[in-house]
Amino acid sequence: MKRKKVIAGNWKMFKTNSEALQLANQIRIKTTDIKATQIIVCPPFTALANVNEVIKESSIALGAQNIYWEKEGAFTGEISPGMIKSAGATYVIIGHSERRQYFGETDETVNKKIKAALENSLKTIVCVGELLEQREANITREVVTKQIKGAFAGLNGADMQHVIIAYEPVWAIGTGKTATPEQAQEVHAEIRRVINELFDKTVADNLTIQYGGSVKPENAEILLKQVDIDGALIGGACLKADSFSAIIHTMENLSNE
Ligand code: PEP
Repeated sequence: MKRKKVIAGNWKMFKTNSEALQLANQIRIKTTDIKATQIIVCPPFTALANVNEVIKESSIALGAQNIYWEKEGAFTGEISPGMIKSAGATYVIIGHSERRQYFGETDETVNKKIKAALENSLKTIVCVGELLEQREANITREVVTKQIKGAFAGLNGADMQHVIIAYEPVWAIGTGKTATPEQAQEVHAEIRRVINELFDKTVADNLTIQYGGSVKPENAEILLKQVDIDGALIGGACLKADSFSAIIHTMENLSNE
């Protein structure tokens, strides 16, 4: 099965506009040879339009890190799907664990945001993953299944063509701890099984499932080699063009094997 391989960089709350321009430029220059891998960069809202100017003639796609589900209105501080689109974004990350942990994101708000994104023809990277205590209590499957059922409630198979799932064990994000390839593969296979159950085999087989959690050039290959791992969502290592590009090239080499 040749699924779309996707490497996305989540810049989080890093990079002023001039820093963002510089990083985007470096990434563009270092990845001109990439053909088989979809690259996505997700800078902060403030840098979206500027980064778009740098990458718009390349095959790198632009993503935002969050949206609000309403079209417009008195929602101080929020950003709508139409607004990120007007800045050049074609993707949006939804339900990142930092948003769930610090900003009250729930499966219900994730679901509303996914629907709003899809209604605006945006593609989504939907994050799921368990906390350390949940893994230790052996409830990873239940936690991830619940997140998936909540996130995709009311969606159909056609909607799922515009969805990427990122499995990100929360204990592995920004901690330097990585899930072992076996741990990651096991959950990815489980996610595909749940998607098969909720939709059908074609949707499950075609779904890109990224791994996220302290992916770096040193551990990328062993993770990206797993049969159900179709790419990565990168935090720390995407803030430097060298390390982000190294991971992208690892994915590209595996895709061409
Ligand atoms: C993330 O923020 O999605 C992430 C995976 O971060 P890091 O690579 O730094 O663990």
